[in-house]
Amino acid sequence: MEKDCLFCTISSGHTNTQFLYENETIVVFKDINPHAPVHLLVVPKKHIRSINDLKDEDREIVAELTMVAKEMAKKAGVSSTGYKLLFNVERGGGQVIFHLHLHIIGGWNKNG
Ligand code: AMP
Ligand code: ZN
Repeated sequence: MEKDCLFCTISSGHTNTQFLYENETIVVFKDINPHAPVHLLVVPKKHIRSINDLKDEDREIVAELTMVAKEMAKKAGVSSTGYKLLFNVERGGGQVIFHLHLHIIGGWNKNG
């Protein structure tokens, strides 16, 4: 856990943020400032700053992020209508929280 990292604090259960899903490596919660009707964040418990900082040993975490995102999209009811999966990388890429997270964004139009 990284000192002063919001997503380390949240993912370790030290806030009242509600998890929609949790396993040993990952938590999922709602984005506090949603950009769409469905906006979830899939967050590894391990502190990794961004995609740029991934190491070989993190392959399983990346795979898990994607698989959990797929399941959560289904649970949120956006699988068939479609959604975006987004990693913002560093400041120029729009990243403001420097703890890796995958955005699931969708639900605008139920007819797809
Ligand atoms: P990014 O721009 O990719 O770093 O995205 C960070 C996201 O975290 C933004 O969409 C914020 O709305 C969201 N966020 C910030 N603080 C919280 C929080 N306490 N709980 C849930 N989402 C948050
Ligand atoms: Zn962190």
